[in-house]
Amino acid sequence: MDKILVSACLLGAPVRYDGGHKRVESAFIYQWRTEGRLIPVCPEEAGGLGTPRPASERRGERVFAETGEDVTDAFEKGAAVALALAQKHGCRFALLKEGSPSCGALQIHDGTFQGNRIAGAGVTTELLRANGVRVFSEDQIDALAAALRA
Ligand code: SF4
Repeated sequence: MDKILVSACLLGAPVRYDGGHKRVESAFIYQWRTEGRLIPVCPEEAGGLGTPRPASERRGERVFAETGEDVTDAFEKGAAVALALAQKHGCRFALLKEGSPSCGALQIHDGTFQGNRIAGAGVTTELLRANGVRVFSEDQIDALAAALRA
C-alpha cells in the first residue's frame, strides 16, 4: 500500500512560520491516516528553522526571510530531509501545502511579501519531483486519491 509524504501542517501540526497549522478536514486524509499511510514532514523545521520563524519567500533559486536573511541553505537542507524520508518509505506521492516556499505545488508567493501569488513550486516540491515523486496540493486530494487507485 502506497505511503504518502504529507506536509505536517496539513495534519494539524503547529509548525507554520507563525506557530499555526493548516489542518485539512478530508475523508481521504482520515482514511489514509487510519491506514498508516501518511509520512508527515515539515521541511522548514527539518532544515533547522525554528517555529515560529520569519515568513520566507522565493526569489528565483534563492529564498529570503522577510528580515532579509538568505535562508536558501536551510530550505535546501529541509528538502533533502523530505526526499530522504520519501525514499526511505518508498513514497511515490506527496500531499503538500499550496503556496509555501517549501511545499507549494502550483503556486508560491512572488518574493515581495505583499501577498501576491505566482505560478511556481516550493523548494521541496521541486526536489521531490526531480526524483520522481508526484506532488499534489491540498486542493488536489481527489486527484491524488485517483492516482493512488490507478
Ligand atoms: Fe507546512 Fe511545509 Fe510550511 Fe512546514 S514548510 S509549515 S509543512 S507548508
